[in-house]
Amino acid sequence: MATQEDKLKKVIGHAKEYGFVFPSSEIYDGLSAAYDYGQLGVELKNNIKEYWWTAMVKMHENIVGLDASIFMHPTTWKASGHVDAFNDPLIDNKDSKKRYRADVLIEEHIQKIEAKIQKDVDKAKERFGDAFDEVQFRATNPNVVRRQEEINGINNRFKTSMEAENLAGVKTLIEDLQIADPETGSRNWTDVRQFNLMFKTELGAVSGDSGIIYLRPETAQGIFVNFLNVQKSGRMKIPFGIAQIGKAFRNEIIARQFIFRMREFEQMEMQFFIKPGTQQEWYEYWKNERIRWHKALGMGEENYKFHDHVKLAHYADAACDIEFNFPMGFKELEGIHSRTDFDLMSHEKFSGKKLQYFDPEENQNFVPYVIETSIGLDRMFLATLSNSFVEETLEDGSERTVLRIPPALAPVKAAVLPLLKKDGLPEKAREIMKALRFDFNCQYDEKDAIGRRYRRQDAIGTPYCITVDHQTLEDGTVTIRERDGMKQDRVDMKDLSKIIGDRVAFKNLFV
Ligand code: ATP
Repeated sequence: MATQEDKLKKVIGHAKEYGFVFPSSEIYDGLSAAYDYGQLGVELKNNIKEYWWTAMVKMHENIVGLDASIFMHPTTWKASGHVDAFNDPLIDNKDSKKRYRADVLIEEHIQKIEAKIQKDVDKAKERFGDAFDEVQFRATNPNVVRRQEEINGINNRFKTSMEAENLAGVKTLIEDLQIADPETGSRNWTDVRQFNLMFKTELGAVSGDSGIIYLRPETAQGIFVNFLNVQKSGRMKIPFGIAQIGKAFRNEIIARQFIFRMREFEQMEMQFFIKPGTQQEWYEYWKNERIRWHKALGMGEENYKFHDHVKLAHYADAACDIEFNFPMGFKELEGIHSRTDFDLMSHEKFSGKKLQYFDPEENQNFVPYVIETSIGLDRMFLATLSNSFVEETLEDGSERTVLRIPPALAPVKAAVLPLLKKDGLPEKAREIMKALRFDFNCQYDEKDAIGRRYRRQDAIGTPYCITVDHQTLEDGTVTIRERDGMKQDRVDMKDLSKIIGDRVAFKNLFV
């Protein structure tokens, strides 16, 4: 059986072969963690954006959109806390010259101990069968207890050092645990340094510190600084939200796992402004809304779970992630954060401008609280692509690779295929193409045997293939073949737009 890692490799290969995702500047051997979306990738990406925008902006009367610039006044990032606190602790190996995140090295060390515990648990489970009580075993087995205490000790030392900004303490911990470079085994480490994840650049001709600006590491701050502009010009009443889709940049120390962690990526974020004291209620509302949005796609309810944050960011009073079952396991796909009034208050302080809402009913001003939903577009793309990638053996023993992309998101909705390249069939097929192309994305293909053409469409996730044959010339009917079940129906070509349009419509997802 193929491992999950194999699956990720296959998905990456498939994405390149069929024009979904290419490595960036590949002719120069690529640039690490940068990718380009190809002809089908851009369609899938646009459809995901449309699904999100429809759900957030079109379906909520009190949510409006925004498209803020990537460059912002540098004080924005002082106020948001990113200049001082958007750091990862990094360490270099002097022999291999490889760079690592110190917290990740420690985390991986802990995972190895956890794996040993799990091995003991699995063995005992096998030995005791049904009578096995895992909780009791974990609490009393001397080996497990010793290892768990070891883990707790490491976690405590790491947390204490980080909280005290004692980076030397983090290095000593790495040395005491005898953690070696995972690739070379060397233990020759540099000191640990804090590394700020924001990309810096210079504005215009100004050089030196005064001209430094940052590429935004999140889109959220563009929303916060425009809070009053939107509220006043749109006459918005609290509660209301502002939604935005745009690029964000983070100089991740280690960026890998394909488009899961990149240095340039796209976020779809929504900040929902509410009355202080109502945050718990709205936090629950948005958790529900967002998980419903994901599950409506039909990519398997079991593939999602909530993960509550134990250690909260400086701005949050509650936070969780929606994790998705990626080929690398369950990982964060979206974050939902109750951000309190941290950002608006801080921007008030740094800008000296009031960012308050006047509540006409209570005749008073207040700084709203905020619930944020933040999803990575590229991660959503990877979730969709990896979940839909299936290799299957058909009843007749032949193999096919199919992308079972939810029809509403599929890059091409229908392929129009003349059975033969003669007898007027291509002309008829072109006529159908012409009629359908205003309704949705269609592809025309007349090359090779029909079976091979079906496979090509399966491989790019086209939900419907329309075949034009001799009967079409006689009675105006065509066959529609459905991608997943491969069932074929004969229908009147005049009904195609409605039949396919209904099945691929976004609105089906909102019922
Ligand atoms: P992680 O813990 O994986 O680094 P994060 O908690 O820092 O993510 P947030 O700051 O909450 O992420 O960003 C919101 C969303 O943006 C994430 O849920 C994720 O989908 C996406 N995202 C964050 N960093 C990256 C990245 N480097 N590449 C692609 N998507 C990202």
